Amino acid sequence: MVEEVLANLYRIEIPLPGSPLGRVNSYVVKDAKRNLIIDTGLNRKECLEAMLAGLDEIGVELKRSDFYITHLHADHFALARFLSDDNTKVYMNEPDKTYIENWTSWEPVEKFYRLNGFPSDEVDAAIRNHPGEKYGSDRIPVMSAVKDGDIISCGGFDFTAVATPGHTPGHMCLYEPAKKFLLSGDHILIDITPNIGCWMDGIDPLRLYLESLEKVYAMQVELVLPGHRRLVTDCKGRITELRRHHLERLAEVLAILESGPQTGYQTASRMSWDIDCSSWADFPVPQKWFATSEAIAHLRYLEEEGKIVRSEHNGCRFYSRAPKPV
Ligand SMILES: [Zn+2]
Repeated sequence: MVEEVLANLYRIEIPLPGSPLGRVNSYVVKDAKRNLIIDTGLNRKECLEAMLAGLDEIGVELKRSDFYITHLHADHFALARFLSDDNTKVYMNEPDKTYIENWTSWEPVEKFYRLNGFPSDEVDAAIRNHPGEKYGSDRIPVMSAVKDGDIISCGGFDFTAVATPGHTPGHMCLYEPAKKFLLSGDHILIDITPNIGCWMDGIDPLRLYLESLEKVYAMQVELVLPGHRRLVTDCKGRITELRRHHLERLAEVLAILESGPQTGYQTASRMSWDIDCSSWADFPVPQKWFATSEAIAHLRYLEEEGKIVRSEHNGCRFYSRAPKPV
Protein backbone atom coordinates (compact mmCIF):
# COMPACT_ATOMS: atom_id res chain seq x y z
CA MET A 1 0.00 0.00 0.00
CA VAL A 2 1.22 3.48 -0.90
CA GLU A 3 0.02 6.63 0.81
CA GLU A 4 0.96 10.32 0.58
CA VAL A 5 1.54 11.22 4.24
CA LEU A 6 2.52 14.83 3.60
CA ALA A 7 3.10 16.80 0.41
CA ASN A 8 6.15 15.21 -1.28
CA LEU A 9 6.45 12.51 1.38
CA TYR A 10 5.06 9.02 0.82
CA ARG A 11 4.85 5.83 2.80
CA ILE A 12 5.25 2.45 1.09
CA GLU A 13 4.28 -0.55 3.20
CA ILE A 14 6.80 -3.31 2.60
CA PRO A 15 5.62 -6.80 3.66
CA LEU A 16 7.72 -8.91 6.04
CA PRO A 17 6.19 -12.37 5.48
CA GLY A 18 6.26 -14.60 8.54
CA SER A 19 7.43 -11.83 10.85
CA PRO A 20 5.33 -10.75 13.86
CA LEU A 21 6.11 -7.17 12.76
CA GLY A 22 4.04 -7.69 9.60
CA ARG A 23 5.44 -4.83 7.53
CA VAL A 24 8.11 -2.17 7.54
CA ASN A 25 7.28 1.42 6.57
CA SER A 26 9.52 2.84 3.89
CA TYR A 27 9.20 6.62 3.50
CA VAL A 28 10.02 8.31 0.23
CA VAL A 29 10.73 12.03 -0.12
CA LYS A 30 10.37 13.24 -3.70
CA ASP A 31 12.80 15.82 -5.01
CA ALA A 32 13.48 17.24 -8.48
CA LYS A 33 17.14 16.25 -8.15
CA ARG A 34 17.72 13.33 -5.75
CA ASN A 35 14.91 11.55 -3.88
CA LEU A 36 15.46 10.18 -0.39
CA ILE A 37 14.22 6.74 0.69
CA ILE A 38 14.13 6.23 4.47
CA ASP A 39 14.38 2.53 5.46
CA THR A 40 13.72 -0.25 2.99
CA GLY A 41 12.97 -3.90 3.86
CA LEU A 42 14.65 -7.28 3.73
CA ASN A 43 16.61 -8.60 0.82
CA ARG A 44 13.78 -10.84 -0.37
CA LYS A 45 11.49 -11.00 -3.37
CA GLU A 46 8.32 -9.79 -1.61
CA CYS A 47 10.08 -6.67 -0.30
CA LEU A 48 11.76 -5.88 -3.61
CA GLU A 49 8.49 -6.21 -5.53
CA ALA A 50 6.58 -3.98 -3.11
CA MET A 51 9.35 -1.37 -3.17
CA LEU A 52 9.60 -1.26 -6.98
CA ALA A 53 5.80 -1.17 -7.42
CA GLY A 54 5.52 1.61 -4.81
CA LEU A 55 8.26 3.73 -6.37
CA ASP A 56 6.67 3.26 -9.77
CA GLU A 57 3.26 4.36 -8.44
CA ILE A 58 4.64 7.61 -7.05
CA GLY A 59 6.90 8.21 -10.04
CA VAL A 60 10.25 7.90 -8.28
CA GLU A 61 13.25 6.60 -10.16
CA LEU A 62 15.52 4.35 -8.15
CA LYS A 63 18.65 5.57 -9.89
CA ARG A 64 17.90 9.15 -8.78
CA SER A 65 17.37 8.12 -5.16
CA ASP A 66 19.54 8.03 -2.06
CA PHE A 67 18.91 6.14 1.17
CA TYR A 68 18.75 7.11 4.83
CA ILE A 69 18.77 4.11 7.14
CA THR A 70 17.66 4.66 10.74
CA HIS A 71 19.56 1.62 12.05
CA LEU A 72 21.41 -1.53 11.09
CA HIS A 73 18.59 -4.10 11.36
CA ALA A 74 18.02 -6.15 8.21
CA ASP A 75 14.32 -5.22 7.86
CA HIS A 76 15.40 -1.56 7.47
CA PHE A 77 18.76 -1.88 5.79
CA ALA A 78 19.17 -5.13 3.79
CA LEU A 79 17.18 -4.08 0.71
CA ALA A 80 19.15 -0.80 0.49
CA ARG A 81 22.36 -2.84 0.52
CA PHE A 82 20.99 -4.68 -2.48
CA LEU A 83 19.41 -1.70 -4.33
CA SER A 84 22.19 0.85 -3.96
CA ASP A 85 25.02 1.17 -6.44
CA ASP A 86 28.27 3.14 -6.53
CA ASN A 87 26.40 6.39 -7.34
CA THR A 88 23.96 6.07 -4.45
CA LYS A 89 24.41 7.82 -1.14
CA VAL A 90 23.54 5.62 1.83
CA TYR A 91 23.33 7.63 5.04
CA MET A 92 23.94 5.71 8.28
CA ASN A 93 24.78 6.71 11.83
CA GLU A 94 28.42 6.17 12.82
CA PRO A 95 28.09 3.43 15.52
CA ASP A 96 25.87 1.16 13.38
CA LYS A 97 28.06 1.85 10.33
CA THR A 98 31.15 0.79 12.29
CA TYR A 99 29.37 -2.33 13.58
CA ILE A 100 28.45 -3.39 10.03
CA GLU A 101 31.88 -2.64 8.60
CA ASN A 102 33.61 -4.62 11.36
CA TRP A 103 31.24 -7.57 11.19
CA THR A 104 33.05 -10.84 10.52
CA SER A 105 30.73 -13.58 11.80
CA TRP A 106 28.04 -14.47 14.33
CA GLU A 107 30.65 -15.98 16.63
CA PRO A 108 30.93 -13.18 19.22
CA VAL A 109 27.12 -12.93 19.41
CA GLU A 110 26.79 -16.71 19.78
CA LYS A 111 29.39 -16.70 22.55
CA PHE A 112 27.54 -13.92 24.37
CA TYR A 113 24.22 -15.80 24.20
CA ARG A 114 25.82 -19.04 25.46
CA LEU A 115 27.44 -17.14 28.32
CA ASN A 116 23.96 -15.88 29.22
CA GLY A 117 22.55 -19.39 29.36
CA PHE A 118 21.05 -19.80 25.87
CA PRO A 119 21.25 -23.55 25.05
CA SER A 120 23.77 -24.39 22.32
CA ASP A 121 21.35 -26.28 20.04
CA GLU A 122 18.91 -23.37 20.21
CA VAL A 123 21.70 -20.89 19.38
CA ASP A 124 22.28 -22.71 16.08
CA ALA A 125 18.57 -22.73 15.24
CA ALA A 126 18.19 -19.05 16.16
CA ILE A 127 21.05 -17.97 13.89
CA ARG A 128 19.74 -20.06 10.99
CA ASN A 129 16.36 -18.35 11.33
CA HIS A 130 17.63 -14.85 12.07
CA PRO A 131 16.31 -12.31 9.51
CA GLY A 132 19.81 -10.83 9.22
CA GLU A 133 21.15 -14.25 8.26
CA LYS A 134 18.27 -15.36 6.01
CA TYR A 135 17.41 -12.10 4.29
CA GLY A 136 20.47 -9.92 4.74
CA SER A 137 22.87 -8.98 1.99
CA ASP A 138 26.59 -9.56 1.75
CA ARG A 139 27.09 -6.30 -0.09
CA ILE A 140 28.40 -3.48 2.09
CA PRO A 141 27.71 -0.19 0.31
CA VAL A 142 29.89 2.84 0.86
CA MET A 143 27.99 4.59 3.67
CA SER A 144 27.98 8.30 4.51
CA ALA A 145 28.31 8.72 8.26
CA VAL A 146 25.60 10.88 9.85
CA LYS A 147 26.14 12.63 13.17
CA ASP A 148 23.64 14.07 15.65
CA GLY A 149 22.56 17.49 14.40
CA ASP A 150 23.53 16.95 10.74
CA ILE A 151 21.06 18.46 8.27
CA ILE A 152 19.84 16.66 5.16
CA SER A 153 17.71 18.77 2.81
CA CYS A 154 15.35 17.10 0.35
CA GLY A 155 11.93 17.79 -1.21
CA GLY A 156 11.55 21.14 0.54
CA PHE A 157 12.25 19.63 3.96
CA ASP A 158 15.29 20.30 6.14
CA PHE A 159 15.77 17.18 8.21
CA THR A 160 17.91 17.16 11.33
CA ALA A 161 19.49 13.86 12.36
CA VAL A 162 18.68 13.05 16.01
CA ALA A 163 20.80 10.40 17.72
CA THR A 164 18.47 8.05 19.62
CA PRO A 165 20.64 5.09 20.67
CA GLY A 166 19.02 2.18 22.50
CA HIS A 167 17.22 -0.04 19.99
CA THR A 168 20.66 -0.31 18.32
CA PRO A 169 23.93 1.31 19.45
CA GLY A 170 23.55 4.22 17.03
CA HIS A 171 19.86 4.39 16.05
CA MET A 172 19.18 7.80 14.49
CA CYS A 173 15.83 9.49 13.74
CA LEU A 174 15.16 12.35 11.30
CA TYR A 175 13.33 15.43 12.60
CA GLU A 176 11.73 18.18 10.54
CA PRO A 177 11.62 21.18 12.93
CA ALA A 178 9.54 23.50 10.72
CA LYS A 179 6.83 20.88 10.07
CA LYS A 180 7.29 19.26 13.52
CA PHE A 181 7.36 15.63 12.44
CA LEU A 182 9.76 12.83 13.30
CA LEU A 183 10.77 9.83 11.22
CA SER A 184 11.31 7.60 14.23
CA GLY A 185 12.59 4.29 12.82
CA ASP A 186 12.18 1.76 15.65
CA HIS A 187 12.72 4.29 18.44
CA ILE A 188 9.02 5.04 18.89
CA LEU A 189 6.40 2.53 17.75
CA ILE A 190 2.73 2.16 18.63
CA ASP A 191 0.73 -1.07 19.26
CA ILE A 192 4.06 -2.87 19.75
CA THR A 193 7.02 -1.90 21.92
CA PRO A 194 10.44 -1.61 20.29
CA ASN A 195 12.76 -4.47 21.22
CA ILE A 196 15.49 -3.19 23.50
CA GLY A 197 18.03 -5.97 23.50
CA CYS A 198 21.59 -6.46 24.61
CA TRP A 199 23.84 -8.73 22.58
CA MET A 200 27.30 -7.60 23.65
CA ASP A 201 29.20 -6.40 26.70
CA GLY A 202 30.25 -2.81 27.33
CA ILE A 203 26.90 -1.17 26.57
CA ASP A 204 23.75 -0.44 28.62
CA PRO A 205 21.09 -0.28 25.85
CA LEU A 206 18.08 0.26 28.10
CA ARG A 207 19.71 3.26 29.80
CA LEU A 208 20.55 4.71 26.38
CA TYR A 209 17.00 4.04 25.21
CA LEU A 210 15.36 5.74 28.20
CA GLU A 211 17.68 8.74 27.76
CA SER A 212 16.80 8.89 24.05
CA LEU A 213 13.09 8.83 24.95
CA GLU A 214 13.65 11.86 27.23
CA LYS A 215 15.49 13.65 24.44
CA VAL A 216 12.57 13.23 22.04
CA TYR A 217 10.04 14.06 24.79
CA ALA A 218 11.62 17.50 25.03
CA MET A 219 11.20 18.12 21.28
CA GLN A 220 8.15 19.58 19.57
CA VAL A 221 6.72 16.63 17.64
CA GLU A 222 3.18 16.69 16.29
CA LEU A 223 3.44 13.61 14.08
CA VAL A 224 5.61 10.50 14.37
CA LEU A 225 6.27 8.42 11.24
CA PRO A 226 7.48 5.10 12.68
CA GLY A 227 9.31 2.20 11.05
CA HIS A 228 6.41 -0.21 11.65
CA ARG A 229 2.64 -0.06 12.08
CA ARG A 230 0.61 3.16 12.16
CA LEU A 231 1.50 6.82 12.58
CA VAL A 232 1.55 8.33 16.08
CA THR A 233 -0.05 11.70 16.80
CA ASP A 234 0.45 11.79 20.59
CA CYS A 235 4.24 11.56 20.80
CA LYS A 236 4.55 12.55 24.46
CA GLY A 237 1.73 10.19 25.46
CA ARG A 238 3.39 7.27 23.69
CA ILE A 239 6.77 8.06 25.27
CA THR A 240 5.11 8.07 28.69
CA GLU A 241 3.69 4.58 27.99
CA LEU A 242 7.03 3.24 26.74
CA ARG A 243 8.86 4.62 29.76
CA ARG A 244 6.28 3.06 32.12
CA HIS A 245 6.51 -0.27 30.29
CA HIS A 246 10.26 -0.52 30.94
CA LEU A 247 9.98 0.55 34.57
CA GLU A 248 7.41 -2.23 35.08
CA ARG A 249 9.72 -4.69 33.33
CA LEU A 250 12.60 -3.70 35.60
CA ALA A 251 10.43 -4.33 38.66
CA GLU A 252 9.38 -7.70 37.21
CA VAL A 253 13.01 -8.75 36.65
CA LEU A 254 13.97 -7.75 40.20
CA ALA A 255 11.05 -9.83 41.55
CA ILE A 256 12.19 -12.84 39.47
CA LEU A 257 15.65 -12.66 41.06
CA GLU A 258 14.08 -12.91 44.55
CA SER A 259 14.00 -16.68 44.10
CA GLY A 260 17.76 -16.92 43.53
CA PRO A 261 20.43 -16.39 40.85
CA GLN A 262 19.26 -16.58 37.22
CA THR A 263 20.90 -16.47 33.82
CA GLY A 264 19.59 -14.08 31.17
CA TYR A 265 17.86 -17.01 29.47
CA GLN A 266 16.22 -18.18 32.70
CA THR A 267 15.10 -14.65 33.49
CA ALA A 268 13.52 -14.34 30.02
CA SER A 269 11.71 -17.67 30.52
CA ARG A 270 10.00 -16.28 33.63
CA MET A 271 9.09 -12.84 32.32
CA SER A 272 5.64 -12.20 30.87
CA TRP A 273 5.51 -11.84 27.09
CA ASP A 274 2.79 -10.67 24.77
CA ILE A 275 2.87 -13.82 22.64
CA ASP A 276 0.32 -16.51 21.91
CA CYS A 277 2.15 -19.42 23.61
CA SER A 278 1.14 -21.24 26.77
CA SER A 279 4.68 -21.89 28.00
CA TRP A 280 8.29 -20.83 27.36
CA ALA A 281 9.00 -24.25 25.85
CA ASP A 282 6.45 -23.48 23.11
CA PHE A 283 8.11 -20.18 22.13
CA PRO A 284 9.59 -20.32 18.63
CA VAL A 285 13.39 -20.15 18.95
CA PRO A 286 13.62 -16.70 17.24
CA GLN A 287 11.23 -15.30 19.88
CA LYS A 288 13.35 -16.83 22.66
CA TRP A 289 16.36 -15.14 21.05
CA PHE A 290 14.83 -11.65 21.16
CA ALA A 291 13.26 -12.23 24.59
CA THR A 292 16.63 -13.24 26.05
CA SER A 293 18.41 -10.15 24.71
CA GLU A 294 15.58 -8.02 26.12
CA ALA A 295 15.96 -9.72 29.53
CA ILE A 296 19.73 -9.10 29.44
CA ALA A 297 19.17 -5.40 28.64
CA HIS A 298 17.03 -5.09 31.79
CA LEU A 299 19.55 -7.07 33.88
CA ARG A 300 22.37 -4.87 32.63
CA TYR A 301 20.48 -1.74 33.62
CA LEU A 302 19.81 -3.08 37.13
CA GLU A 303 23.45 -4.10 37.45
CA GLU A 304 24.59 -0.56 36.58
CA GLU A 305 22.14 0.73 39.19
CA GLY A 306 23.85 -1.48 41.79
CA LYS A 307 20.63 -3.39 42.45
CA ILE A 308 21.93 -6.75 41.22
CA VAL A 309 25.32 -8.43 40.85
CA ARG A 310 26.70 -10.97 38.43
CA SER A 311 28.75 -14.11 39.01
CA GLU A 312 29.99 -16.88 36.76
CA HIS A 313 29.67 -20.67 37.22
CA ASN A 314 30.60 -23.34 34.68
CA GLY A 315 30.90 -20.82 31.84
CA CYS A 316 27.49 -19.26 32.56
CA ARG A 317 26.72 -15.79 33.86
CA PHE A 318 24.20 -15.53 36.70
CA TYR A 319 22.55 -12.47 38.18
CA SER A 320 21.32 -12.14 41.75
CA ARG A 321 20.00 -9.44 44.06
CA ALA A 322 22.78 -7.29 45.49
CA PRO A 323 23.33 -7.90 49.19
CA LYS A 324 21.49 -5.32 51.25
CA PRO A 325 23.80 -2.79 52.92
CA VAL A 326 24.11 -3.41 56.65
ZN1 LIG B 1 14.91 -2.58 14.38
